[in-house]
Amino acid sequence: MTIKYTIKPTHPEAHIFTITCHVDKPALEGQQFQLPSWIPGSYMIRDFAKNIIRFEAYDSSKNKLTTKKLNKSLWQVQACDNSISIEYDVYAWDLSVRSAHLDTTHGFFNGTSTFFAVVGQEAETCHVDIQKPDGKHYDNWRVATSLETLESSLYSFGQYQAKDYDDLIDHPVEMGNFDLGTFSINDVQHDIVLTGKHRTDIPRLCNDLKIICQTHVDFFGELPSDIKRYVFLTMVVGEGYGGLEHRSSTALLCSRNDLPLKNQDQTTEYRNFLGLCSHEYFHTWNIKKIKPEAYLPYNLNEEVYTEQLWAFEGITSYYDDLSLVRNKTITPEAYLELIGITITRVLRGNGRNKQSVAESSFDAWTRFYKQDESAPNNIISYYAKGTLIALGLDFTIRNATNNEKSLDDVMRILWQEYGKKNIGVPEKRIEAIAAEISGENLQGFFDKYLYHTEDLPLEDYFKAVGITLDSYIADSVDNTGDIKNKTEFKESNSVNIGARIINNLLGAELTHVFDGGNAQRAGLSAGDIVIAVDKIKVTKSNFEKIICSYPANTDLEIHAFRRDELIILDLKLNRAEHDVYYLELENSSDKSVLDKRTSWFKV
Ligand code: ZN
Repeated sequence: MTIKYTIKPTHPEAHIFTITCHVDKPALEGQQFQLPSWIPGSYMIRDFAKNIIRFEAYDSSKNKLTTKKLNKSLWQVQACDNSISIEYDVYAWDLSVRSAHLDTTHGFFNGTSTFFAVVGQEAETCHVDIQKPDGKHYDNWRVATSLETLESSLYSFGQYQAKDYDDLIDHPVEMGNFDLGTFSINDVQHDIVLTGKHRTDIPRLCNDLKIICQTHVDFFGELPSDIKRYVFLTMVVGEGYGGLEHRSSTALLCSRNDLPLKNQDQTTEYRNFLGLCSHEYFHTWNIKKIKPEAYLPYNLNEEVYTEQLWAFEGITSYYDDLSLVRNKTITPEAYLELIGITITRVLRGNGRNKQSVAESSFDAWTRFYKQDESAPNNIISYYAKGTLIALGLDFTIRNATNNEKSLDDVMRILWQEYGKKNIGVPEKRIEAIAAEISGENLQGFFDKYLYHTEDLPLEDYFKAVGITLDSYIADSVDNTGDIKNKTEFKESNSVNIGARIINNLLGAELTHVFDGGNAQRAGLSAGDIVIAVDKIKVTKSNFEKIICSYPANTDLEIHAFRRDELIILDLKLNRAEHDVYYLELENSSDKSVLDKRTSWFKV
């Protein structure tokens, strides 16, 4: 029995979608309806039902039925021996890729925010009628989604279909007056949809995306067979960043400046945007198909735990940029700069000494996704250190097999044996496959770098391929390893403040204070607003410069506000640590070293 939904932006000006769901054969004891509490790919309880602002139910003669809310996300409708419908309003004002957003310029929604599951009938096929808002203003609106059309034509309002509830909520929908670019990969149509104000060179974007997508398809050998069309849904805003993967689409949020203009050189921002697209597209295999056993099926009502996110996010993060250098979208130098930024991010945070990557994955729900001012000191990112573990694993396998095997082979086995067959990957299985491929016992590797907090021997890995890992002292924490910002310091007496700073009307506000740094040793805390150093007024723009102008071992008087109280602190400046890492290609003449590097950068 098909479940029939309708969704209509009834009040775009008030950010309200009205949705109906018709059930032919409701449960005899009273049908229950449940909205997910989280969205796959973003591991945090978001309680989407908090945006349900009206919920009503009717029998087939339009008589109102009583409804009862059983918990924060679960409703029950009065028992009825005929078909029933529910009708409800969703408040949609979250400009992110995770939820829903509606105004008079566009609408965007994830099914997890808008479509209730009919409890017990989740395996039934679903039809959804996507309706246009009323009024002339919306005459030119179109629909972009990877949902399969039913009685509608591509990009039009009308009937769409999904094979079950899980499918229904895995195809976000964009509606509005958007721009569109199209290309094809292995005869499968790929669309890029851009909503918002922009001046993108769309043919150039399509060319670059086509190369990236083809690289990933060739890497795994095929597109998953159920992908009939793939869509990059992109919301373009002044300032924004985000991406969420789906089975045959991705929802992206980007800044206008990230997108390429005609005849413009490749900017760092565009390079990062291509990296984001590459990342989400790689997920089409690695997490949408190859996924932890615990996610099959997803329990969207509560937290689901796995220690494997390093593999799904870390390995994906490793290949998102590596594939760009492999297909020559970016230069090797640009790639090394990106890796340098990741190394800096990992090695600068003391959190890496307190939390293992496996723990970071397990605790994603309450820690990585709920970061506060202590995050750099207390947690490690399974994305960033996960990337370095992937890199370390890749080099370990290459070294063990005389460069005949690599992490690429591990990924292809995972695709063939798990992803393609819809079998969940048990915990620790990826480690076992990597060991089989390398022919070595890798328990020590995973023990040290994944389950404990040891730093990877990065210098050795890079040395083997003729790349030098070096570091310098940053004059600002905003300097994360961009080699262009490399500043030569007088090493013996360089100092820095050891905190992240934002502007405040009164002075320089500290948002994060790093373990062991000068700010923390002086007794400064996150939230403090420093107003003077050595009795000179400071702001965000001059605070770090002023601090850096003093030699090490200077005693300084700091004036700051903590809440509304003035505090006066003594700071003895310690020397700064080298904490900005960068990589450089060596002009090696050793053929075996160069061969290894070539092979690493080869598709
Ligand atoms: Zn990801």
